[in-house]
Amino acid sequence: MAQRSASKRKRQASTTGQPHTHGKSRCLRILRQLSAYIDDELSTNICQEIRQHLGACPNCETFVMSLRQTVSLCRQSPAPTLSTADRALMREKILKTASSR
Ligand SMILES: [Zn+2]
Repeated sequence: MAQRSASKRKRQASTTGQPHTHGKSRCLRILRQLSAYIDDELSTNICQEIRQHLGACPNCETFVMSLRQTVSLCRQSPAPTLSTADRALMREKILKTASSR
């Protein structure tokens, strides 16, 4: 009867045990691309790259999920309409996330 205590604390993403197959810089690149997205510069290709990245990166996935609640990211329509407020909000989130890593 193994009693598992909650000793498995989640620290800041260090090098231990997380299935993060890419480096931090890769995450930052994705974040920057998301930033381009809110400037209407994001191509379908990049959407695909982001999706692939998200498959391998729980951290980024969580982040993008929260963005998706603001707008639907990478949806079929290539040029979603974002209000100025949406952009400001997303940019803020992105910058915050990027600088916290
Ligand atoms: Zn990532």
